[in-house]
Amino acid sequence: MQFDLGRLGRMDPGDVLKISHVFVSHAHMDHFMGFDHLLRLFLPRDAVLDIHGPQDFLARIEARLAGYTWNLTEDYPLVIIGHEVRPDTIVSATFRAASGFRREADCHRAFDGILLDEPALRVSAAILDHKIPCLAFALAEKSHLNVDTSVLERLGLQPGRWIDSLKQAIRSGAPDDQPLTALVRDDGVVREEETSVGRLRELVIESRGQKIAYVVDTLYSPGNQQRIVELVREADLFFCESPFLEEDVEQASKRYHLTARQAGLLGRDARVRRLEVFHFSPRYEGRADEIYAEARSAFLGG
Ligand SMILES: [Zn+2]
Repeated sequence: MQFDLGRLGRMDPGDVLKISHVFVSHAHMDHFMGFDHLLRLFLPRDAVLDIHGPQDFLARIEARLAGYTWNLTEDYPLVIIGHEVRPDTIVSATFRAASGFRREADCHRAFDGILLDEPALRVSAAILDHKIPCLAFALAEKSHLNVDTSVLERLGLQPGRWIDSLKQAIRSGAPDDQPLTALVRDDGVVREEETSVGRLRELVIESRGQKIAYVVDTLYSPGNQQRIVELVREADLFFCESPFLEEDVEQASKRYHLTARQAGLLGRDARVRRLEVFHFSPRYEGRADEIYAEARSAFLGG
């Protein structure tokens, strides 16, 4: 997973090649210039790259790909799938190296705030106002259900497929008296036994998944505040831009960016566990401590 494509050259190429999904907030240069670097590393690979971005994003990908000549890539298996997030719709298009990255037919699906929903995690997005649509993202791991093997031993149970049924029952909120067939060890002989979800519940330990949120390049307006707080709510880690200090709040608003104080207030309103501010304007060279202090003070309610 990669949020934004800035100067990817600073990343270890091995780490870049682990990327399978990219989420681009908007196509201002500092957030999208790394696309070429990504493409260069992935070009000879048998891989599928999924790239999400805001309104007009498919045209941006198409234009970037059209900037090069692709007459020798007919045997290259690389596939790029672009996804353009519009207010109610996600439009997707495929670009294959083998066909010179020609844009294939678009397909549409409804957008309900979720970009990616996999068994282990979910990525959501909100569309913010940065004088252009700009996406904010939240990645939430789903909770894990693990079996406590010491309880399994104590109850004389034999592992098997029935454990998946038990996890499934717990996930779907099944009542205690719901019947379930478990495997029991009796004097070395394994047999099935009718029992219930309630009697097996102590076997399963639920560990809460982590949530990470990412917000960049946005105006501190009531609409944006509401959308950010809703998306970011109770994140374990909230990465939030804070290019400006509050002393330059007018400049920040004019450029549709946040101040450190505003980042702190957003983190506070969303009740996040930890706030990490970044994306500082070069005008504050040597004053990073002031930015951290201002964000921290607003976050803690000082
Ligand atoms: Zn921007």
